[in-house]
This record gives sequence, C-alpha cells and structure tokens, in this order.
Amino acid sequence: MIIAIDGPAGSGKSTIAKMVAQILGFRYLDTGAMYRAVAVRARDLEVSYDDSEALCELAERDAIEFGFNENESLPSRIFIAGKEVTDEIRCAQIDKAVSPVSAHQAVREALVAQQRELGRRDDYVVEGRDIGTVVFPDAEVKVFLTAGAEERARRRAAQNREREIDFDYDRILADIIRRDDYDTNRLHSPLMAAEDAHLIDSTIMTIDHVTNTIVDLARAVDGLE
Ligand code: C5P
Repeated sequence: MIIAIDGPAGSGKSTIAKMVAQILGFRYLDTGAMYRAVAVRARDLEVSYDDSEALCELAERDAIEFGFNENESLPSRIFIAGKEVTDEIRCAQIDKAVSPVSAHQAVREALVAQQRELGRRDDYVVEGRDIGTVVFPDAEVKVFLTAGAEERARRRAAQNREREIDFDYDRILADIIRRDDYDTNRLHSPLMAAEDAHLIDSTIMTIDHVTNTIVDLARAVDGLE
C-alpha cells in the first residue's frame, strides 16, 4: 500500500508521515530530501541551478541512499554519491536552491523513477509535493496537508531550534511563502492536491489527531490492523 502525503513547506508532513509509518509498520520516504540532496550536490560541483542537462545527469548518476541511526526504525540520514548530507540539506542556502533545482522536468523524471522503484517493493508512506498527482496516482490513500503560513513558519522555527540550525522566524516565514509560490506556480508537477486526496488543514489540529485521521483512512482501505 502507498500512503501519499503532499502539502506545502512546513505543513507537518514529515512528522506526521513518520508517525503514520511507525504505527502501520510501513517504510517512509521523504522525497523533498532527495531534491535537497541533488541541490547540495549541484552546489558542491558548482553546477548552475539553471543547467537542466547537467542537473539531470547528476540526478541520474549520483545515487541517493538513506541511512538509519542506531535504534531507529525509520531512516533519518541521507547520502548522495556516498557523501552524507543529512545536515547540509536543511541549511538556508539549500532552502533557497531546492525549488529552482526541483522545477526542472528532467531532474524530476530522474528522481520520480527512483521513488517509483522503491514504492513498487514495499508498503510506504511517501511525502512530497506531487506524490498523489504524479508519482503514485494510484496510491490507496492520498492526503493533502495544509496549515496557515504563519503556523507553518512557527513550527519549522521550533523544529530548527531543536536541530540547532537557523531558527529566525521572519526568515523562515519569508522562505515558506517564497517556496509555496515557486512550487505552486511551476510548470512541471506543481504543488496541488490530487482530485481524490483528503484535504486536512492542520492549523488547529494536534499532531496526534492528524496522524490518527490518516491511520484510520489507511485501515479503512483494506482492514489493516
Ligand atoms: O519537503 P521539503 O520542504 O523538504 O521539500 C523541499 C523542496 O523540494 C520543495 O520546496 C520543492 O521545491 C521540492 N519538492 C518537489 N517535489 C517533491 C518534494 C519536494 O518538488 N515531491
């Protein structure tokens, strides 16, 4: 079974997707982390974020792998071309670079092929922007998760503070608004809800409430325990 969770930056997708995966015993795939890893690699190799061909070559060539920390059942580490980029993918510079990089159709095709290959083999909770619309249009459960921009910025700032990275609220809010705009208005696979997605506005919902709502949707599909 595939549970697709799409939504804008900071809507709580990662936290909720991980919790759903843990409860149901599914694997978890963070597709945003894959686009971020490609952006880090492009920066390190000084590939221009406008160079569709070079970015595509890089996305096809440089393997992305996920890794686990000790005692964790879900992956929280990411590597590209053998180099760990777990922390780097979350820095402000990559927050900026990732949307232009992910807007190239050729880059998307390379990563979507890898995402489909993974999802073919196991039960997955997959989070991103185009999972229910493009990557897994036949996903058994589709959720589009939203929340007000201010609330999303507040949550992301709290999360960054915990990770000990830049947690300036105003910068984060500006980044969220800019990325929403970029991701929603791009030509290829724009951020949008699939027609058959369940819309969940988490602005005033607790994490547990949203998680349980999605778990219930999955269990209703085929009587999962
Ligand atoms: O989910 P996260 O905020 O880490 O995603 C980073 C960026 O990657 C998004 O702003 C978007 O530009 C891109 N992305 C995408 N398609 C996905 C997942 C992420 O274009 N499925």
